[in-house]
Amino acid sequence: MIPALTPTYNRADLAFERGEGAWLYTTDGRRFLDFAAGIATCSIGHGHPHLVQTIQQQAAKVMHVSNLFRVPQAEKLAQRLVDNSFADSVFFCNSGAEANEGMVKFARRAQALAGHPERTEIICMEGAFHGRTLAMLSATGNPKYLEGFGTPVADFVHVPFNDIEAVKAAIGPRTAAVMLEPIQGESGIKVASTAYLQALRAVCDETGVLLALDEVQCGIGRTGKLFAHEWAGITPDVLSSAKGLGGGFPIGAVLATEAVAKGMTAGTHGTTFGGNPLACAAANAVLDVLLAPGFMDQIQARATLLDSLLDDLIKQAPGVFAERRGLGLLIGLRCIPPVGEVQAAAQRAGLLCVTAGDNVLRLVPPLTLTEEDCREAVSRLRQAVLSNSSADTTVLETSL
Ligand SMILES: *Cc1c(COP(=O)(O)O)cnc(C)c1O
Repeated sequence: MIPALTPTYNRADLAFERGEGAWLYTTDGRRFLDFAAGIATCSIGHGHPHLVQTIQQQAAKVMHVSNLFRVPQAEKLAQRLVDNSFADSVFFCNSGAEANEGMVKFARRAQALAGHPERTEIICMEGAFHGRTLAMLSATGNPKYLEGFGTPVADFVHVPFNDIEAVKAAIGPRTAAVMLEPIQGESGIKVASTAYLQALRAVCDETGVLLALDEVQCGIGRTGKLFAHEWAGITPDVLSSAKGLGGGFPIGAVLATEAVAKGMTAGTHGTTFGGNPLACAAANAVLDVLLAPGFMDQIQARATLLDSLLDDLIKQAPGVFAERRGLGLLIGLRCIPPVGEVQAAAQRAGLLCVTAGDNVLRLVPPLTLTEEDCREAVSRLRQAVLSNSSADTTVLETSL
């Protein structure tokens, strides 16, 4: 018989009762170090007092009023994102897929208003992940995800990632935008090179094509800057955000330049829940932490520490880990044995991680983690892959 909860996930048999910082506690009293962070979403950790108090207080005042009225919390959040990014205007929604849908609408509408309604095609990347709505399945392009869901939505084409010549060759009179993740998350923590992002910006400028960045996973401080594209010294025309923005409370956003956003006049797009007082209060509390002086430096310092500890571990376990990649606290370890086995061994050692494509173990801890958390995580991962006392790890040892 089908479970009451539709079984679209293979869930680990763990249920958590509470969390504190980078730690999660199960209902039966076990404690885990959380380097999954709700898939790079619990950006300021579990039970952060400022986030908890803000949500409690806002919930007691007013949670939801609709976008038929002014929402001061949304106005404040939009202004802070504008003040701290390339953007001139921000639209709020509820998830990453929804933010990406909005981003495509912004781009097409801007092209139409510029006299090019025929420019509707979006050039996407092989290995992309943009979400599970019907249009974003087509932007993602993975045949496995599309199977059984009918004709793909038109006007999404795919080119190899990190290949500027492929983009140039794909751009035509109907191209509206190039859409990509500066760091591909789901397909295995693949970083777009600085030279590639800079060349993309130049090609887009030359051809009137818009640069649309999906920073749902790599944005909001994950790489040690508010947005990952800042490392390349470029700016996009439009950007999607979600995951870490609400620190676990659902919220997404489309950030755009004035030139792109000005087509989005009253009635062109909408949402019932998007940008409500409760979600925006939560995101403002997250930004209070992230935008505090020195916090991005702290993220970078934690990342540097983790990188060096992980590089040592890779040297000690060359039969398990082939390579480290990523940027900041978006870390991928490409595995030699099946990544699912490494993830399971880590879980038995009390460390939660996420898998990604390309046989990669994904480490995406809360951005607020301590130095001690970094050391403890790598120590647990070492125990998971090198221990010879536990029968549970023999699977890994035999592949060493
Ligand atoms: C998670 C993710 C999405 C989808 O976000 P949802 O909130 O699950 O809809 C889109 N793009 C990227 C890069 C993601 O990591």
